[in-house]
Amino acid sequence: MINFPVLVLNQSYEPLNVCRVRRAVVLVQGGKAEMLENGTGFIHSTSLDFPVPSVIRLAYMIKRPRPQRKLTRLEIFHRDHFTCQYCGKQTNQLTLDHVIPRYRGGEHLWENVVSACIPCNRHKAGRTPAEAGMRLLHPPALPRGDRFFYIPYRYRQTQSQWQKYLPQ
Ligand SMILES: [Zn+2]
Repeated sequence: MINFPVLVLNQSYEPLNVCRVRRAVVLVQGGKAEMLENGTGFIHSTSLDFPVPSVIRLAYMIKRPRPQRKLTRLEIFHRDHFTCQYCGKQTNQLTLDHVIPRYRGGEHLWENVVSACIPCNRHKAGRTPAEAGMRLLHPPALPRGDRFFYIPYRYRQTQSQWQKYLPQ
């Protein structure tokens, strides 16, 4: 029971990480966190019976640097599943395409860079997709993993009390 997982929320209620009951109890008893949900059962110690926490919220704000993924060719290819974003062909022979060409003011950002196969890149050349009569499969965006703390899937399945605190 002391090793059961506990969801730790920032003061802002944003999920931060998962710890063990042992650690969560220390935080709550030390006034560093409050218990939002208790699981089942009690921890018995010599002086008191303490409910087993399931979700706690820190009493202070943890400033967490957002893990920023570097914008590299390989990261873009991975985000796009090695698929040309114009014709849908999956290939290792990919190039980076700036949707709005750089010399036309297009920026080197996740939202303006896509994977393109060599024929599509040649066909598009220095034009916008509309000018070239081409359509993107998906609007390019920051990779998903950068947005939220990742909760292991097994916890999503088993920890019903966590659901309302987790992004969908
Ligand atoms: Zn293509």
